[in-house]
Amino acid sequence: MPYLDLVWIYTVSKLSLELEEAFRAAALRPTTQRYAVLEFLVRHPAHATAGDIFHAVNRSDPRASRATVYNSLRSLARAGLVREVFSDGKAARFDASLHRHHHFLCEQCGAVEDVAWFDLPAGAGRTALRGRAVRNYEILFRGICRNCRP
Ligand SMILES: [Zn+2]
Ligand SMILES: [Zn+2]
Repeated sequence: MPYLDLVWIYTVSKLSLELEEAFRAAALRPTTQRYAVLEFLVRHPAHATAGDIFHAVNRSDPRASRATVYNSLRSLARAGLVREVFSDGKAARFDASLHRHHHFLCEQCGAVEDVAWFDLPAGAGRTALRGRAVRNYEILFRGICRNCRP
């Protein structure tokens, strides 16, 4: 068996284990549609809209209706497995939230890119956040992406 096939099989089974574990940890029943939605978001980190997700899931399983896919997206979001990255008055963009990361929004082409996770220096924002218990945070950087820069 070629090496690449082995890597592929390993990656696929590792992903399915990771997804199963995520459902277990969130105490959410992994229905076929929920699984398909989460798997799509993990495999396509381009921050799809609900419409994109519906088209992709429906293409591989024509029985998946728009309502089922949207409901699955909502249940996944409620369970914390998926989150709305931002919407900016346009269609909301979604992301699987299995791994913490920040985002970069290109103000020219609208691309939303992942930015590797890093912690803020201790004490950052202490004045502004006084009295609030911070549970989590993420940063949305805005600017011009590599493709759009002259
Ligand atoms: Zn751009
Ligand atoms: Zn992301």
